[in-house]
Amino acid sequence: MKAEDLALIADEIRRCQLCPLHRGRIKAVPGEGSSNAKLIFIGEAPGAEEDRQGRPFVGAAGKLLNDAMAGAGIRREDVFITNVIKCRPPGNREPKPEEVEACQIYLKRQMDIINPRFVCLLGNTAIKALLGSPRPGMRGKSFEKNGRIYFPTIHPAAAIYNPRLKLVLEIHLSRLKGLLDSQS
Ligand code: SF4
Repeated sequence: MKAEDLALIADEIRRCQLCPLHRGRIKAVPGEGSSNAKLIFIGEAPGAEEDRQGRPFVGAAGKLLNDAMAGAGIRREDVFITNVIKCRPPGNREPKPEEVEACQIYLKRQMDIINPRFVCLLGNTAIKALLGSPRPGMRGKSFEKNGRIYFPTIHPAAAIYNPRLKLVLEIHLSRLKGLLDSQS
């Protein structure tokens, strides 16, 4: 039932014309993963490879995220992965506030259906959309809000050419796995 509801939302997203980003997309990227996930990852927006495939985090940033997840013992098939924005902004620019506003109905519905206990926010756009303006020192820590545990961290794209940030992401996801295990 939950999987069917998510599939219906995904169909709506693929037809969506609520903001101008629909004009430049090859494929919308609704998100994918377990409808019963205890943990959802939320990034910013699809990049070029995601736009081509219609799947989230399948490019270079996705490989980094997969590696950090695997290192922490988080299985991709156990979680749900999506973005704040479902269509690629031109040239991977930051989404505009009005685009975030238009698209947030889909993320809200996805979260209502999946009802995850843990929400990992990958980067500033996701942090801003779910928790408000990012604050120094908040990444790598957990925050309880409305019955969910939010865990802000960096966006994997920031770590592609930066081994120090790659390590930060790995440490954060290991910490997140520890939190998950402590509550299961
Ligand atoms: S980015 Fe979101 S609101 Fe804009 S067209 Fe795509 S699905 Fe619709």
